[in-house]
Amino acid sequence: MAAEPKRAAPGRAVVVAAPVIGVLALQGDVSEHVGMLQALGVGVAEVRLPRDLAGVDALVLPGGESTTLQLLLEAAGLRDVIAARIAAGMPVLGTCAGMILLATTVLDGRPDQWSFGAIDLAVRRNAFGRQVASFEEDLDLAGIGGGPLHAVFIRAPVVETVGSGVEVLATISMSDDGAHPVACRQGRVTVTAFHPELVGDHRLHELLVADAAAVTAHQVPRSSGSGAGRRRH
Ligand code: GLN
Repeated sequence: MAAEPKRAAPGRAVVVAAPVIGVLALQGDVSEHVGMLQALGVGVAEVRLPRDLAGVDALVLPGGESTTLQLLLEAAGLRDVIAARIAAGMPVLGTCAGMILLATTVLDGRPDQWSFGAIDLAVRRNAFGRQVASFEEDLDLAGIGGGPLHAVFIRAPVVETVGSGVEVLATISMSDDGAHPVACRQGRVTVTAFHPELVGDHRLHELLVADAAAVTAHQVPRSSGSGAGRRRH
């Protein structure tokens, strides 16, 4: 029952492949992100090992626990390879703990907390108060049509400061000290303090897919003879 190797017929036109989006699958709400992306009709790959990353054009860092995720990233040997791919321009979407992992500065982290530093934000972990750890709110998304997004916050980080190159897509008001960004973007790095994957709102995943398509459109088409559709670089 071996699968037949797929080979492009010689001389056949090369069809531009839909991007493959990876979901970091070490911990957290992996299956929800996978489901969201599958609904968009793109290729989806769960990323557990460095070799899984080679075949993806963009990556989702899901919610979970950033301190646990950072330990698992190191144990899997993924920390350096993901950092290198982000530095090379791979689009990423980080939700909640994923936002913490992508920020330049993490406040109230573990003493050994590190982050990829991919978006110029200072974020404070678990900053919405001990009692009201989780809440829901409808948000307007700047520059993204389709009406308000119903956002679910679960022990979410708060954005304390935003670098000048960061675009703020959505904010919420905190009773004590005013508006805080909860969705931000810098280049092809998009982060949310909330969980779009839990409410089935695909707009931020669509943004990631569009980023991935824009990047792959500038690359040499995948070799038609290699069969696996997986690139090395
Ligand atoms: N509080 C978690 C952290 O600090 C994030 C929570 C989440 O991803 N839902 O990593």
